Amino acid sequence: MYIHEYEAKNLLKKFDIAVPQGWLITSKDDLKKIWTENNLQKAVLKAQIHAGGRGKAGGVKLVSTYQEAIAVFDELFNKKLVTSQTTEEGILVSKLYMEETANIKKQLYLAVVLNRKKSVVSVVASADGGMDIEQNTADDKSSLISFNIDSELGVKEYDLRETFKQLSLDKMLYSQFAKLVKKLYHIYLKYDATLIEINPLIIDDDNNLVVLDAKMNFDDNALYRQPEILQFKDDKEQDENEVKASSYGLSYVALDGEIGCLVNGAGLAMATMDSIKFAGGNPANFLDIGGKASADIIADAMTIIISLSTVKGVLVNVFGGINHCDVIAKGIVMSLTNASKNIPVVVRLQGVNYQEGKRIIEESGLPIYLTDSMDEGSDLIVKLCSKEADDVDLGR
Ligand code: GDP
Ligand code: MN
Repeated sequence: MYIHEYEAKNLLKKFDIAVPQGWLITSKDDLKKIWTENNLQKAVLKAQIHAGGRGKAGGVKLVSTYQEAIAVFDELFNKKLVTSQTTEEGILVSKLYMEETANIKKQLYLAVVLNRKKSVVSVVASADGGMDIEQNTADDKSSLISFNIDSELGVKEYDLRETFKQLSLDKMLYSQFAKLVKKLYHIYLKYDATLIEINPLIIDDDNNLVVLDAKMNFDDNALYRQPEILQFKDDKEQDENEVKASSYGLSYVALDGEIGCLVNGAGLAMATMDSIKFAGGNPANFLDIGGKASADIIADAMTIIISLSTVKGVLVNVFGGINHCDVIAKGIVMSLTNASKNIPVVVRLQGVNYQEGKRIIEESGLPIYLTDSMDEGSDLIVKLCSKEADDVDLGR
């Protein structure tokens, strides 16, 4: 789960990490009040969305008069911001963060990140921070310095000194740097983060390290024990169907293909997506209905998939173990009876009560194609969704 920059900075502030003074703005009145009360002469206005690349997309603006601030507010607020990290549609900006300006002597990059390949937490630093870091390091990673943290020993002084040396910074900054890395690692562990990325971390005029931008991501599976983080959950930033599905207790991830999938079990769901790919199609979603889904929930899940404008057909692939095939069949029939659009649906049911499940589907009189194997099902749904659909022998 991502949180906003201003939320991340408030969290860092609790641990005495230096961040610029800032104010959250959700209306023009807020802006007016804060500008006058604090007697501001200039400021930075930053769009708060769960995506980076804002600077290059015009989502971070320096203003030096109140009039300019109002103009930037009008330009950004309640408008969609498209950055290199959003979809083409962009994300609606409903919050701005206004900060006092910082005088930047140097921009650094510093991150504490889950290293999935090595199963450790790594620290990554660069003396070449700022908006171009992705481009600058795409081909040549030599400016990135990193070390892994031993989970038993914590951050070792040796690694800090070595990294600091390679950053070629003024020696006076070492104790600030070492403290900051240790604090970030402490926060990372305490809140079950998977990423804390500071870019840029700046050296300001007074030779202090200041966090100018912060991006944080947390492990969804640990949120149950992180009430402080959970309160930052912003459903507006997430795919609306993912939010809906998660409220039913389903694991759903939106993808950009044309074939909807309703499957039980994460492994079978992955295999089904592979099988669709092999057949020449593209999955529109990942959906694991888990083991406890009732017919109503299956119907709701099916309705979510069918209502996606990109979906041209649906493949249901269920191996009934904990789930019973008759319950799944009832859910499918319920949703297709009231479906908003007519699209081909291929169903493969195996396992507990599969005969009863097939009977329910056959007797429904709905245009549902039954199949006995996953790969046949994938081939069929891909053909039904492609232009040659007319030529397919449907052999129901
Ligand atoms: P991002 O593009 O989404 O990562 O947004 P950032 O918060 O990193 O802002 C983009 C860039 O704006 C930073 O890399 C800085 O160079 C610049 N910036 C942000 N705040 C200030 C500030 O207070 N003063 C100055 N001079 N530049 C700033
Ligand atoms: Mn940034």
